[in-house]
Amino acid sequence: MDFQTLYDFTYSLTKLYDKAQDRNMLVEGFKQALSIFFPIEDLKVYLMDEYSYLLKDFTKPWENLSLNEENEEIKKYFDNFLIQKSQYEKEKNILYFPIIRKNKTLGLVKLKSREEIKEKNEFFKIFPLVTAQISLYISTLKGAEQVKISSKFHQTLKNIAQITQTQYELDYILPIMGEMIDGFIQEHLIYIFIKNKNKKEYKLIWPNKCSDNKIYDYLEEITPKTTTILKQEGKMGIFPLIVDNKPYGAIVAYNHFDKITKKEIEYLEEIKSQATLTLTRAKSYIEVLEHATLDALTGYNNRHQFEKRLRETTSYAKRQNQPLCCIMSDIDFFKKVNDTYGHAVGDCVLKTVAKTIKKELRESDIASRYGGEEFIFLLPKTNIEEAKIVAERLRLAVEKKKINIEEYNIKDTKEISVTISIGVSEYKNEKDYEMLYKNADGALYEAKETGRNKVVIAK
Ligand code: GH3
Ligand code: MG
Ligand code: MG
Repeated sequence: MDFQTLYDFTYSLTKLYDKAQDRNMLVEGFKQALSIFFPIEDLKVYLMDEYSYLLKDFTKPWENLSLNEENEEIKKYFDNFLIQKSQYEKEKNILYFPIIRKNKTLGLVKLKSREEIKEKNEFFKIFPLVTAQISLYISTLKGAEQVKISSKFHQTLKNIAQITQTQYELDYILPIMGEMIDGFIQEHLIYIFIKNKNKKEYKLIWPNKCSDNKIYDYLEEITPKTTTILKQEGKMGIFPLIVDNKPYGAIVAYNHFDKITKKEIEYLEEIKSQATLTLTRAKSYIEVLEHATLDALTGYNNRHQFEKRLRETTSYAKRQNQPLCCIMSDIDFFKKVNDTYGHAVGDCVLKTVAKTIKKELRESDIASRYGGEEFIFLLPKTNIEEAKIVAERLRLAVEKKKINIEEYNIKDTKEISVTISIGVSEYKNEKDYEMLYKNADGALYEAKETGRNKVVIAK
């Protein structure tokens, strides 16, 4: 055996492994390392799925192998490795060898060479070492993935638990929760449904669309005692949210290709329990604060109060024949803040932006939180030229503000900054007073479309 070949192979494989961040890169690394021995046309790794007992392509773990001749072949060889413990199998230009860890056959590698594979190839001299190394790398990567998933899972639970520390309006909470769960369970579609109080039917809350109408029938099966419901041969899991002993809503997870695994069900059941707790807490806040007018996070008027103030100010402006303007703002790329630093930092940013803007306003201006990170301001006795100047001042103040996030212990980041986009409109005594903020909203949309961090005046 040529020492140099062995060295080259191990060296290149180790180097490629260090760089490999995901399954595709790892398999690509094997291919490159093994190309010392063969002119490789294709290399695939198949692993036995513990839950479904099916062989799966390592780089496409969510997809079942279709039942064609080629795949029958793979199964046949896998069984050979499993039962007869053969070392490898080859036919012309194709080589199969098993992936074995701790005496367990986990799967196999199928290597397709451009030339016929000969026994005298150097590869067969170091064969046991190659398979051991490849097997080790595959199982280590799988282990690392599991740790990552599990830590993401715990972070998701923590995030869901924390939502009500800063807010309790279900309109804000539910979409955030949907997003958090979606980020955690990636290979599935996640839906959140809430039961409509009066009409008694389920309504989709997150995301915007659900094309599978059968889900609504399944949801009707939920009773206060229902635990998890599995549908469509285990591809769909329904996790009922039971609040105060009543069906309140449900988290639904769906995977086109495959059954939801036992582990995923365990995770989703935990998430469901945490979500139920958070919702119960939010509901009791709402009951206590039914007459609240202010948003807890920002101290601005809440949406309900905004609507009331809008009616008052427009009718006053009309009666007194005084100008009135509306400014609508939305934080740019706010989702990215949440995704990068977590929702707690997102909340801190929201709070700081609200405070920064408030400082730039007059006592008589009315500040409200309209949606998640959208604020709306009513400026009585202000014409459009003045409002434009105010809006520009707000935009600049936010842009310049350094938001201190030291207390969240984010590595290498002590402060961040964000920008806002703004739409401005003037009240033209329209009968439909809601036009005032609808026009501002349209201008805001244009500001987003044309580059963000800017002010657009409604026409
Ligand atoms: P852009 O507006 O520039 O188009 O991008 P964006 O990333 O801001 O987009 P979008 O308006 O769709 O996203 C708003 C995000 O704000 C979605 C949601 O996760 C987040 N969000 C809404 N309310 C809250 C909240 O109270 N706290 C936190 N942390 N995030 C919130
Ligand atoms: Mg935004
Ligand atoms: Mg927005």
